[in-house]
Amino acid sequence: MNKQSLLDQARSFYTEDQLFEIDHAIDFATEMHEGQKRKSGEPYITHPLSVASILIEWGMDSDTIIAGVLHDTVEDTDATLDKIESLFGYDVSFLVDGVTKISQARAGMRDLEQYLPQTKDNLTKLLIAVGQDVRVVIIKLADRLHNMRTLQYKSSAKQQKIARETLEVFAPMADQLGMGRVRMELEEKSFSYLDPKEFKRLEKLMRQRLGKSTRKLGAVRLEVERALQAEGLDFEVNGRVKSLYSLHKKLQKRGHIDNIYDLMALRVIVQDKEQCYRVLGILHGMYQPMVARIKDYISVPKPNGYQSLHTTVITPNKQIVEFQIRTRGMHEYAERGLAASFHYQQQKNSKEYQKGDSRRGVSQLPAQLQWISQLQEIAARLRAGEDIPRQQLSIDLFRNRIFVYSPKGDIYNLPEGALPLDFAYAVHSDVAKHAYGFRINGKMESFERPLENGDVIEVLTRKLSYPKPGWAQLVTTSHARDKLRLQLNKVRVQAVNEAISLTDKIIPMRPFTKRSKK
Ligand code: MN
Repeated sequence: MNKQSLLDQARSFYTEDQLFEIDHAIDFATEMHEGQKRKSGEPYITHPLSVASILIEWGMDSDTIIAGVLHDTVEDTDATLDKIESLFGYDVSFLVDGVTKISQARAGMRDLEQYLPQTKDNLTKLLIAVGQDVRVVIIKLADRLHNMRTLQYKSSAKQQKIARETLEVFAPMADQLGMGRVRMELEEKSFSYLDPKEFKRLEKLMRQRLGKSTRKLGAVRLEVERALQAEGLDFEVNGRVKSLYSLHKKLQKRGHIDNIYDLMALRVIVQDKEQCYRVLGILHGMYQPMVARIKDYISVPKPNGYQSLHTTVITPNKQIVEFQIRTRGMHEYAERGLAASFHYQQQKNSKEYQKGDSRRGVSQLPAQLQWISQLQEIAARLRAGEDIPRQQLSIDLFRNRIFVYSPKGDIYNLPEGALPLDFAYAVHSDVAKHAYGFRINGKMESFERPLENGDVIEVLTRKLSYPKPGWAQLVTTSHARDKLRLQLNKVRVQAVNEAISLTDKIIPMRPFTKRSKK
């Protein structure tokens, strides 16, 4: 990767001004890294340029690209953050600072230890440490991806260490952000270094299996394509092969490769959600579905936001085939995840933004990634020196997430174990304030009923209902708890005021004089 090829790649995605800045950043970084070499013997600058190239591929905004070019300058050269801010603006320097902080390790994490000593979850700690701007994490993932792609030049001890960390921290991070393609590449590369023997064995096993079934699968594919065409659908069918790492994990659970039905799956991409269900119907009309394996991740997305319909069918000649059905948008999201919400096109159109508004873009996060905004809120409060009870932190951040719906179909993302009042407060604190009951999936339920993934919840309100002190036991999220506390205080103040005014009006205070006996 050199300057010219990076600029060529960037040309069609960014404005003239942005390209000028990128060009400038390349020159600056090249000068700063002058004389440094990578283990491969190449000039060091090839690494940041490759990272920037990956970020362009992911469709990131120009500040992120520039920060990618500069990401190692503060740590490894004489460049200072002030210099970067004066040359490229606050946002870029903020991003570079974030990336530097992660690699300068774990200083940020050590701060957090005091808040979160009980968690061994590096991933989440890391996310909080950089929680102010999720683009920092995306740059770090691009950095790690390029390092994994060039890991062969490192010593074998280094390879082991880096591969292990990638598998334990960075791949799950990519997964949490819904970046499926990145997660898979990180896992495959790590696995190939950590257990090269097993990796080779599975590679061979997979090749044998696929050789046998590819032709049969081709016939199924043709048959399906014809059926969909006959229905007048506009679609695309792809084959997808299971990754070796996920095969490895499944084999540990299922034992034998014969028990794994999705070594190869067919992926059908259509125009909209309705067509997804239509395709499912068509497939089930043609083949016998394995009922237990029908998954509707469209109406109930996976916690990281993944959406698709999955079904496994048995063809008349006893072949078992998995299908994944999704729209173009869902496909895009499954591959690129969070990165899909930062579109260069959007950035191209909105040139103006406030200095320091590094959370820009995050307000447009899809519902399934609301936890990121929550994380950022908490990170901001921690940084402002606010003392957040440990209990609260762990409660919100370290539980799994579920999705629930309002009767109108709005989606809400809550921690597992959340109660109906948590939902009500997530909708609006004024709604929660007047709640007197809950109808869940059409049935009246108590305040204690834990919510489950996919529940549809209606909050029944009444003007004269008010929060009660006992509700403190009926909320589990820190958001609901905070709001409730404010409301209870208000109610108490109100009650006192009312009492006082009552006293004033109805029972005039007696003058404090000794009553003289008559
Ligand atoms: Mn780097």
